[in-house]
Amino acid sequence: MARYTEAQCRICRREGMKLYLKGDRCYSGKCAVERKGYPPGMHRQSRKKVSEYGTQLREKQKSRRIYGVLEKQFRNYFKKAENQQGITGENLLRLLERRLDNTVYRLGLGSSRVEARQLVRHGHFTVNGHKVNIPSFLVSVGDVIEVREKSKDSPRLKELMERAADKSLPDWLEYQAEPAIGSVIALPSRDQIDSPVQERLIVELYSR
Ligand code: SF4
Repeated sequence: MARYTEAQCRICRREGMKLYLKGDRCYSGKCAVERKGYPPGMHRQSRKKVSEYGTQLREKQKSRRIYGVLEKQFRNYFKKAENQQGITGENLLRLLERRLDNTVYRLGLGSSRVEARQLVRHGHFTVNGHKVNIPSFLVSVGDVIEVREKSKDSPRLKELMERAADKSLPDWLEYQAEPAIGSVIALPSRDQIDSPVQERLIVELYSR
């Protein structure tokens, strides 16, 4: 399966902001954006003025990187968002948020989306009682996400489940600690999605 291989901290530095791609490290003094607040490359350089197109392109790239989605898949999400009722940009973000890997991350059962995706791929979760190992699976209202019984002995999953109990959640999700059950109680509204994305720029880019 295709996936990003570019160093995550490098991606943040290029975007000029913390994208929280590495879990716990992002909240420590080791964060590369805090240590080297300039774009990657051999020399320190000031950010050049970018064109309107460049700004729109960067916003799309940043969104792809936050959610770890490849170009083709991202465009497919956009097409789907366009065909839905409502505001296309918000529909797009809602689709990205509904991915199972993102939902697991939002529930706190992965310290980053990268870790959440790996845990999903390794088959550690069920949705409505069925094992789902597809990170792009879209959750719906009423879905129940659980750590699989046989995965509950994993030290890492144990740690994550304990941490999830204290995590503050977006309003569209609920988490019950014992047994560890996450529930989708609504579809996320724009104000419940705290990703630093200006979706309007992405819509403008694809409307060119
Ligand atoms: Fe980005 Fe996290 Fe690396 Fe900081 S530590 S640069 S937030 S991936």
